Amino acid sequence: MDLQRVYIQNNPGKLVFGPRSVNQLADEIPADAVPLVITDRGISQSGILKRVTGVLDGAGIRHHIFHGIEPDPPIGAIEKAAAVYRKNRCTMVIGVGGGSSIDGAKSVSLMVSHRGDISEYSRGKAVPGPVAPIYAIPTTAGTGSEVTGVSVITDPVKKVKMVLRGAPHLIPKCAFLDPELLVSLPPRVAAETGGDALTHAVESYVSQNSTVVTEGLALSAITLIGRYLRRFVGNPADMEAAEHMQLGCYLAGFAFSNAGVGLVHSMAHPVGAHYHLSHGAACSLYLPVVMEYNILTCPEKYASIAAALGEDVSGMTTRCAAKMSVKAVRDLFTDVGLALTFRELGVKFKLLPRMVAEAMAAVPTQANPRRPSDAEVSNLFNTPMVK
Ligand code: NAD
Repeated sequence: MDLQRVYIQNNPGKLVFGPRSVNQLADEIPADAVPLVITDRGISQSGILKRVTGVLDGAGIRHHIFHGIEPDPPIGAIEKAAAVYRKNRCTMVIGVGGGSSIDGAKSVSLMVSHRGDISEYSRGKAVPGPVAPIYAIPTTAGTGSEVTGVSVITDPVKKVKMVLRGAPHLIPKCAFLDPELLVSLPPRVAAETGGDALTHAVESYVSQNSTVVTEGLALSAITLIGRYLRRFVGNPADMEAAEHMQLGCYLAGFAFSNAGVGLVHSMAHPVGAHYHLSHGAACSLYLPVVMEYNILTCPEKYASIAAALGEDVSGMTTRCAAKMSVKAVRDLFTDVGLALTFRELGVKFKLLPRMVAEAMAAVPTQANPRRPSDAEVSNLFNTPMVK
């Protein structure tokens, strides 16, 4: 933390958490509101959507539903949802689902509130003012979108993921963390989203923009995810594990939405967009690779990460303890079935020069503790191919 610098911290909206906390949704919504519930088909088929709309029906809150969100939401789906919002004169959005649905809700809120092409917000344009109220009900323990001012959508034609940075306006007004909504999560999705959350926590902890506040949040997140991810993937119906994973992901989201992320994210976005890998799978592939590369610049922080992940680092030199953090992450990811190589993912990877350029130009690269060269980034991209 640079004591000569002025920092701004964006804080989250209201948080309601615990088993059956979603039952309190109607208490948090103005009686005359007309919400558009934004979700995907998986959530509507799983029965989760019914659980949420049942609460709205019970309170007599008129609402509409858009369940056409797809993973890494393409801009076309956002436009369709915005048309439903306008046609029905909705007044707020409720994102129900993983990061894709919550980000979809945020982008719809932005689109219906301000004129212009929303992709401009991914090129540095500031969100000019308040947007339609955003409520978030996450059903994965991963992205932390329920607490961040960011929405990630995709331009499928250009094959790019667009990160719309809109804090404080895009930060949800209210989030509900109900562990009962995670029971139906497939173990693969539980593992990949957990890998995403651990990446947020580690990258924000070592970020050049971290503060004592974000470091505390990030280290707590690392501790919780390290302690509960195995149990959660083994059994998403384990309420203690699910609730602690939700809180760990929330803390990681709170941390990274202020401190930023790093090179893992700069590389995961182009790999995800070109090879159709989920965001969590792409982050998990590169987290240990980039940790190993970054250790040089802040070994003390990596030693703390090792300890937070439960490694016994007493009596070790800082350098040895720091290296234990990489081993701890690899062990954790192997235990929960996350791929550490392209071969395990079944992907024939070929590095495209534009991926290096995209990673070098990405905003998170500026916050990474080690400044990479083009050649180093190429090398890091290829590492999961040779390991
Ligand atoms: P997701 O929202 O894409 O969902 C993945 C799949 O899991 C979907 O098919 C969904 O239907 C299913 N699913 C989700 N919850 C379920 C449940 N409880 N039971 C059964 N099925 C369930 O996955 P995600 O990883 O949560 O979100 C990924 C997106 O979030 C990416 O686009 C990523 O870039 C973005 N993201 C956003 C932020 C942010 O701050 N806004 C941060 C990180 C990632």
